[in-house]
Amino acid sequence: MSDDHGRPWETQRRGLLLLVSSPSGAGKTSLSRRLVADYSDMVLSISATTRAPRPGEQEGREYFFKTREAFEAMIAAGELLEWAEVNKNLYGTPKAPVMAALETGKDVLFDIDWQGAAQVAEHAPHDSVRVFILPPSWTDLSRRLHARAQDSEAVIRARLDLGKQEIERWAAYDYVIVNKDFDRAYADLGHIYRAERMKPGRNPWLPGFVDSLLDETI
Ligand code: 5GP
Repeated sequence: MSDDHGRPWETQRRGLLLLVSSPSGAGKTSLSRRLVADYSDMVLSISATTRAPRPGEQEGREYFFKTREAFEAMIAAGELLEWAEVNKNLYGTPKAPVMAALETGKDVLFDIDWQGAAQVAEHAPHDSVRVFILPPSWTDLSRRLHARAQDSEAVIRARLDLGKQEIERWAAYDYVIVNKDFDRAYADLGHIYRAERMKPGRNPWLPGFVDSLLDETI
């Protein structure tokens, strides 16, 4: 075999934290879930929340659904990497699964609001990559929220209002994708992820590999 050095790039990586934010309805959840399905090195961070499950949502798949008391106990016990109040509900990221994933060389994807993304990026600036998903138009966003038919009109109104505040934070992100066409937006998200994985700092095997390449030079 020509690669006598083994394949260190398959094992000795430093995992990255891909933080994806958007207003509700811009396609962030579908894009995130497809990325996790397509890349075995990527795991999805499952958040805890105090909001009620939507039709079809399952405990431990979309969220860990908690009472406010249980959620506050997690905060007090230091079990959350970050948390924020969004639309009168609490949302937070359990710390232990994220740490376990990073230790085994996995990347972690977070479907998270701007407050959470800012907190994680502050804790781990070199490991974090922030991506913001924009809708192509306000009409499109409103249509998608209605088509989902999971929320009442009042909840949709509140989500649209909150979406404006979320969009105002776009400039703090490393990358911005306008989700006009799902397949194209998904391809762009994949390009971002793959390019970020190739940064030298995320590949601690590189110096040793290059040394061995140079040793081999005739
Ligand atoms: P939804 O109720 O539509 O599932 O989520 C509402 C908002 O909460 C979305 O912007 C979503 O990204 C955000 N969110 C979900 N999980 C977390 C989390 O663990 N932390 C923070 N800060 N926001 C979250």
